[in-house]
Amino acid sequence: MSLSAMPGGQPGPQRASALTAPARAYAELADGNRRFVSGAPRHPNQGAEHRAAVADGQHPFAVIVGCSDSRLAAEIIFDRGLGDLFVVRTAGHIVGPEVLGSVEYAVTVLGTPLVVVLGHDSCGAVQAARETAATGTSPGGHLRAVVDAVLPSLRRATAEGVDDIDGIVDIHIAQTVETLLGQSPVLADAVAQGRCAVVGMSYRLAVGGVRPVTAVPAGDATLDAAAPGAPATPAAA
Ligand SMILES: [Zn+2]
Repeated sequence: MSLSAMPGGQPGPQRASALTAPARAYAELADGNRRFVSGAPRHPNQGAEHRAAVADGQHPFAVIVGCSDSRLAAEIIFDRGLGDLFVVRTAGHIVGPEVLGSVEYAVTVLGTPLVVVLGHDSCGAVQAARETAATGTSPGGHLRAVVDAVLPSLRRATAEGVDDIDGIVDIHIAQTVETLLGQSPVLADAVAQGRCAVVGMSYRLAVGGVRPVTAVPAGDATLDAAAPGAPATPAAA
């Protein structure tokens, strides 16, 4: 089971039903983001009727492990509503035991088929870590824990010769995907069994679009389909 099964844009319910659950979830997110970028959001699943319908149980189709940045609200940028997304946000999408436990809850108890690591350009947590790496001075209080969690990505960027902030953000997103899979055997097993996929995306604050950075399992068709301006997929219908 691979995300590469995602179609290139031929509409029709037959084709949609052929998608794997992770690919269907991915297509829903990509379509919602395209609606948001184009300024034509539908605001699905936000009415009183739907609120009542989901009160007795939730079946979110994606987990979003995102940065806490106030401009990165998941339901808004993916044009979704109540019960759709299981959202875990920390500054710089850093990962600790509570984040891992939350992701595992969604994947194992709720059966959510897709985990998205959502970073963004000009991320303040990454900038703070870059400053710490450059000057050797850490911020005070618990903010230090955030910076310390981002520093491995800074070291990896240095080793790879990347020093622009958005290039470092991409590396940090990929690093976060690897951290989730490396520290959660539960998640890694779900991916190995084809029940779940993990995708890293970077959001552009000014434009509103998401750009895929990495995917496990890898699937080039999926990454292409997520690019802003790509043709709509059946899941949008
Ligand atoms: Zn951020």
